[in-house]
Amino acid sequence: MDALDAEIVITSDRTMMSDHHGKEFIGFMATGPSIFIPEFLWMYICCPKVKTDKYGRPIEAPYGLRKIEAALQDAGFKAYIIDPDYLRLYIDKAKILMIGHHDFFAFGPPSSEWWLLTGREPVNRRSFIRLMESEAVRKMKQKGVKIVVGGPAAWQWLWEPELVDKWGIDTIVDGEADEIVVDLASKLLNGEEVPRYIYVGAHEAPALDKIPIIKGASINGLVEIMRGCPRGCKFCSVTLRPLRYIPIERILKEIEVNKRFGIESVILHSEDVLLYGAKGIEVNEEALLKLHDEVAKNVRSMAWSHASLAAIVYAQRRYRLISKITDIIFSRLEQNYLGVEVGIETGSPRLAQIIMPAKAKPFKTEEWPDIVEEAFAIMHEHRIIPAATFILGFPGEEPDDVIKTIELLDRLKKYRSLIVPMLFVPMGVLKSEESGIVKMKLTPEHAEAMRKAFWHTVSWAEDIIANFYMKGFRYEPVKLLLKAFLWFAKRKMQEIEKELLPEFTGRELSIKT
Ligand code: SF4
Repeated sequence: MDALDAEIVITSDRTMMSDHHGKEFIGFMATGPSIFIPEFLWMYICCPKVKTDKYGRPIEAPYGLRKIEAALQDAGFKAYIIDPDYLRLYIDKAKILMIGHHDFFAFGPPSSEWWLLTGREPVNRRSFIRLMESEAVRKMKQKGVKIVVGGPAAWQWLWEPELVDKWGIDTIVDGEADEIVVDLASKLLNGEEVPRYIYVGAHEAPALDKIPIIKGASINGLVEIMRGCPRGCKFCSVTLRPLRYIPIERILKEIEVNKRFGIESVILHSEDVLLYGAKGIEVNEEALLKLHDEVAKNVRSMAWSHASLAAIVYAQRRYRLISKITDIIFSRLEQNYLGVEVGIETGSPRLAQIIMPAKAKPFKTEEWPDIVEEAFAIMHEHRIIPAATFILGFPGEEPDDVIKTIELLDRLKKYRSLIVPMLFVPMGVLKSEESGIVKMKLTPEHAEAMRKAFWHTVSWAEDIIANFYMKGFRYEPVKLLLKAFLWFAKRKMQEIEKELLPEFTGRELSIKT
């Protein structure tokens, strides 16, 4: 097999380096341990291998890694993303190994939740550890290759200092690295000293013209349309970043790159797609219609990464914008639904006021449960299928707050959606107040909220798999496995409800971090 003349190799483990069968949401299975089926089958469902060229370069790769690769190539470095199965080809060539991840050690949500509940390590953690202990990575280290780790989960290395030493991590980069990675690479190649931990704060985050355009295809055509979020929720690290809207011409250029590699779909990535071009949180109808119109001219299908529920309601009430945008999508593209992730977080206005006072804006926080229900109704009517999350165990949470969440889940029963509970993991501005130990006592209210979300999700998942998701023969094996998994999960839940749920509550769950 051939190898490129690569001085910098960029990679990640299989849970990241996968197109998840073209369905991002299936990738979430990588955040849990394998349940009811062997791990290799679980990995096949959620993280199949990607196609590569003869040098081991994946055709599709995680968007964040593509940005790093582009920044380094623009600066003249011989830097390439290499699939983890091909790293052995680069043992004698690489001088620097850069590794990015969303959740290196499964401390992020929802991995930490599955870990707490099942007591078993999620497959993303296991897969990442396998990568770091692989012969290729060990040999690279022995030969003096510098190892740099980064990405949204860089903070997790601070909780694993023994592994930093054991694996010989030279530098951890926390924050947007598009710009600083060039200087870092030069220093490492010149043998200069670099800090072990580099934090790229809001003031050093790259300006728009310093964010490079990707050179190879991103997984499932993901293209970012903005960075940052103005809502300022206390538990969220995204809000610490400055707000930047990517101009449409640059978005279209990245779509063109994806198309050159045969990826004709796009996931518009933003923490809130409906705030593209907004002034603060005032939805910009013109910018959104232009964005969707231009993008629709250039792709076969489209998805949104995230949208806020308040913006969905406001955009529809004020401009009928959800109707207008879905008209563009469904009349011109080859799809009968639009996928998106949304955050419910809590059904309690009291708690919402404390942890996310701007999440309901421009509406009042007291109206939050009504806004959530209205947004779900709008999405249901417009065939937008949300994967929603809510969070249990916020600091200051009281049983009545969880009861309010349970009541809200009852109101959402009739709307097509997947709803996944998460346990609070300290991040964002709350991070520094916590001890580094994730601990949580499961109350009867928590158990009931989880139970409700489970039945909501499995019943709608069956409808979604049958009528929307994964059309076509190539998906039949995965669909079969998913259906079998749902069948097992339902049976298991019935057992838990009968026998174990009373025992399960009151138990203190913890992960030593
Ligand atoms: S709305 Fe979402 S992305 Fe924005 S600060 Fe809140 S949780 Fe973070």
